[in-house]
Amino acid sequence: MTVNYDEVMVRYGELSTKGHNRKSFIDRLGSNVRHAVHNFADVKVHPGPDRLHITLNGTPSQPVMDRLSAVFGIQNFSPSIKVERTFDATKEAAIALVKKVVNHPQTFKIQTRRADHDFSMDSMQMNRDLGGALLDEFPDLLTVDVHHPDLEIRVEIRKNGIFLSCETIKGAGGLPVGTAGKGMMMLSGGIDSPVAAYLAMKRGVDLEMVHFYSPPYTSEQALAKAKELTAKLAKYSGRIKFIQVPFTEIQETVKEKVPEGYLMTVQRRFMLRLAVELAHRRRRLAVFNGESLGQVASQTMESMRAIEEVTNLPVLRPVLSYDKTEIIKIAEDIDTYDLSILPYEDCCTVFTPPRPKTKPRVDKARQYEQALDVDGLMQRALDGIQITTIHPGDEFLNANEDVFAELL
Ligand code: ATP
Ligand code: MG
Repeated sequence: MTVNYDEVMVRYGELSTKGHNRKSFIDRLGSNVRHAVHNFADVKVHPGPDRLHITLNGTPSQPVMDRLSAVFGIQNFSPSIKVERTFDATKEAAIALVKKVVNHPQTFKIQTRRADHDFSMDSMQMNRDLGGALLDEFPDLLTVDVHHPDLEIRVEIRKNGIFLSCETIKGAGGLPVGTAGKGMMMLSGGIDSPVAAYLAMKRGVDLEMVHFYSPPYTSEQALAKAKELTAKLAKYSGRIKFIQVPFTEIQETVKEKVPEGYLMTVQRRFMLRLAVELAHRRRRLAVFNGESLGQVASQTMESMRAIEEVTNLPVLRPVLSYDKTEIIKIAEDIDTYDLSILPYEDCCTVFTPPRPKTKPRVDKARQYEQALDVDGLMQRALDGIQITTIHPGDEFLNANEDVFAELL
């Protein structure tokens, strides 16, 4: 049976250990939560030093809690009932709560926290008296177990009321997005980079997406897929900027002028240079990608070294040490997997040579690039960028009816 809750009490995650950064973490979490629930007009968010309180003002708690579960920096949260500051009001509310949530014999315990020490009863007394009242009321349903109760009724005495809750729901963990700085994510349409993006955001990084596309070799759908993946990820951070970079001229030129063994390395060096240039322009401190050590030829240490040589900006790889099965598990959990496996070729697949070098050399890569107008190619790609702001739940694939027909 559903209970009409008055507020959701949010407990902070790791940030409570962060000393002097605490205040900015709490402010950021407050604004991220506000953002996540902004379309519930009556909901009010109050970030406090120990907890964050969300006043529902009549809004159903479930849809609000669904939004909360995607906000990083939250350890857990409890929907709570608010009553006036008297024992009798607390007792009545606790009885009503038990009637709604308990339908077979259970053990229970009352856990009181007195945030306002002016209140006449202390927490021990509240535990005892309220526990006694519930035993009297439900002699056949409840027994006390203070160590491993089936049901824990939490009572919090605050200046503005007494709050009761009996449910604690696990939050998303991590750190509030934005508290770890800004990064530029290289997002393909594959399985790995969306997972890497999720993990970076979970550690508090504010990301923008950069995606390289190569029409006519890659289809509209490949681009739409990358955008739709971004919409899935936007759930964790609010809106995300998606930067699409035309990559056709670079790929055609590289294919024509560079020996096959180095096609991939040189292409990747261009991608990284472009991502770095965009990071500089947009004041981002690192580039993120979805590389996992040893997964494919371009993801050996030698290859990473040969590619990364083009920049001194940190290139961070959140899934570096994950097995493919572990990455897939996360992709399923965050609901990007089904999109990622749609068979639209991205720009790398089309131009990948059958046998790229697994141990490319930096000097060779440089030497082959001397035959190319690197600056001109970069400039034209940068001149062609388009930036879209993508919101949670935006759809790009379904807008095009042929997309799924084509797959059948
Ligand atoms: P993914 O599943 O993320 O595509 P992958 O295992 O297929 O990864 P690669 O295709 O070798 O690996 O790409 C390695 C990384 O390079 C990707 O994770 C991504 O960060 C970046 N990348 C590859 N293609 C693109 C692209 N078209 N646009 C932006 N970034 C890309
Ligand atoms: Mg890929």
